[in-house]
Amino acid sequence: MKKVFTIFTLIILIFGIMGCEKAKNPLLEEWDTPYSTPPFDRIQADDFKPAIIEAMNMHKKEIEKIIKDKTEPTFENSIVRLDNSGEKLNEIVLILSNLIEANYNDTLEQVAQEVFPLLSKHNDEILLNDKLFEKIKFLYEKINNLGLNDEQKRTLELYYRDFVRAGALLNDSDKQKLKDINQRLSVLTLNFGMNVQKDNNNNVLIIDNKDDLNGMPESLIATGEKIANERNMPGKWVYTTDKAVMIPFLQYCPNRELRKKLYDMYLMRGDNDNENDNKNLIKEILNLRLQKANLLGYKTYADYVLEDRMAKNPMNVYNLLDQIWSPSIAKATLERDEMQKIIYNEGDTFKLQYYDWWYYAEKIRNKQYALDENNLKPYFSLNVVRDAVFTLSNKLYGITFKKLDNISVYNPDVEVYEVIDNDGSHLAILYLDYYTRNNKQGGAWTTSFRDQYHKDNKNITPLVSVVCNFPQPVGDNPSLLSMDEVETFFHEFGHALQGFFSDVTYKRLSGYVPRDFVELPSQILEHWAFEPQMLKLYAKHYKTGELIPDSLIEKITNSKYFNQGFAKTEFLAASYLDMDYHILTEVNDLDVRAFEQASMDKIGLIPEIKPRYRSTYFNHIFSGGYSAGYYCYLWSEVLDCDAYHAFIESGDIFNKDVANKFRQTILAPGGKKDAEQMYLDFRGKEPDIKYLLEDLGFI
Ligand SMILES: [Zn+2]
Repeated sequence: MKKVFTIFTLIILIFGIMGCEKAKNPLLEEWDTPYSTPPFDRIQADDFKPAIIEAMNMHKKEIEKIIKDKTEPTFENSIVRLDNSGEKLNEIVLILSNLIEANYNDTLEQVAQEVFPLLSKHNDEILLNDKLFEKIKFLYEKINNLGLNDEQKRTLELYYRDFVRAGALLNDSDKQKLKDINQRLSVLTLNFGMNVQKDNNNNVLIIDNKDDLNGMPESLIATGEKIANERNMPGKWVYTTDKAVMIPFLQYCPNRELRKKLYDMYLMRGDNDNENDNKNLIKEILNLRLQKANLLGYKTYADYVLEDRMAKNPMNVYNLLDQIWSPSIAKATLERDEMQKIIYNEGDTFKLQYYDWWYYAEKIRNKQYALDENNLKPYFSLNVVRDAVFTLSNKLYGITFKKLDNISVYNPDVEVYEVIDNDGSHLAILYLDYYTRNNKQGGAWTTSFRDQYHKDNKNITPLVSVVCNFPQPVGDNPSLLSMDEVETFFHEFGHALQGFFSDVTYKRLSGYVPRDFVELPSQILEHWAFEPQMLKLYAKHYKTGELIPDSLIEKITNSKYFNQGFAKTEFLAASYLDMDYHILTEVNDLDVRAFEQASMDKIGLIPEIKPRYRSTYFNHIFSGGYSAGYYCYLWSEVLDCDAYHAFIESGDIFNKDVANKFRQTILAPGGKKDAEQMYLDFRGKEPDIKYLLEDLGFI
């Protein structure tokens, strides 16, 4: 139900008999909570708008103070004050953004619709403020004569660059155009994500004939029953297009027609010509992004975005994609042919279709590697995998985790831990939000409620949050994870480690690394997930506590290259699509469906594989921050495969010295240095792509 909210809605509480006082907005208070964590138990959706407006005013006053200071600009009176400003606003916006993604409701959505344009405007008013920029420019022009240390110089440089990239050098009328574009984009990108979520929630596969369940494993039937009950459809079986539900369905439902139905619903999200359709939004978003890039002096939006990344320009991105494309599509074609053979051998005559891939891939896994994922899952219950990442973090870095029950959470599913450093000191707070819910966006991500930095010479410790979409426990059984999901947990935990270990003085540097570098900390952790040595440390059967047998470990190792052609091909297809959109110099006549098809035809994608994301639900690029950036995972993969080799070369995958060097050179510095330099500091040489190709089994 939608709730109408106005700024004038204030809750009045009566205090005693002396009179009345406005209830305090919990978002605006100094939180008297353990580790100053957000008091979720007291925060209502209605609190956000007034709190954000108030916090924006506070921020404006802080900026005005900097501007009105008539003394000559110094690093302290300008940059440090700018860096410290807007703290409360930042805190509140982080909470709102995180809730919108992980635990939204109609009121929050309404609030976000109203405040995101205000925030975009507010942000632009600061970044396009001439007087403020004058001070930064004054300092930047004599950066080497100010007696600054390296970290201070870097902070000044980054602020200068932020202002320039935001349009500080433009004339007034162009500045205004830019402000309008940014505001409109903030709404469009928010709507894009909400549309996907709505189609996702509304379009589900309902089975009411028991015969249709024939041949499906018990667990899959139980999932359908559980979702049906949650949706008040007792006696039926319901399957959603959430990947945690859909992928097992595609793997194990023998009925081709039903597989097609569900997968088509997934593929058509945002493309149903209904009120949630995203095609026009895509056009408008791309058009505005192009206009923005042109205003700022760039030929395309990709040029604008990539300047700030390790890749530097579109050509370098395409070069990398092209290098991996040929071996990927070649491998995927072989995989397809193998599956077609199975179909013929089973006496069928049909041609493999896109909705058959998962089903026959499972057969290959069974036949070629004698590996049935259903036999594996009992060794990967959620708690076991969580403890595994804790154990790995401890073996590498000596850190420990202590469960806390006194921290307020936004959903009862969420667990909280204190992260304790190897010297016993407090390092961070970790929130773990595991399960798929119908008020959570799909996928998995790591975020924060507060980043690490120094304030008044005091270290502010981070609040890090890992959000996943793992299957909910069914009945007495715990959530059992697939190999993909285990890898996802390790991945996200790698991001979390970067959050814990951040060691910077200025907020501007906190967690700031280029997007094509940021997947290095996360993806490197995936390398440990299925290492035999690691499996022997953690993979225990949830019922018997028995350790995973050597025979299963061997099968896991043997199946390392299973389906890799498919995995890389679907990923690359989405990466090309993203880049193709963002190198456009003309968007007006764009026909989204036709463009997508042409883009896929150009690279020669086979019809049995769809891009990992089709345009109309490609949240990464139209709602999240990965525009002209989906390639980043691959760019980082070159780095993480090379970096993991440092552990292998040392003869010990748990080598503490290598880990410590990784912590100091890669995880801790944040934005203190250029990413290229950070990598050289760790490895002493440039990354070699051969380790990635080896890892994929392509050479
Ligand atoms: Zn990631």
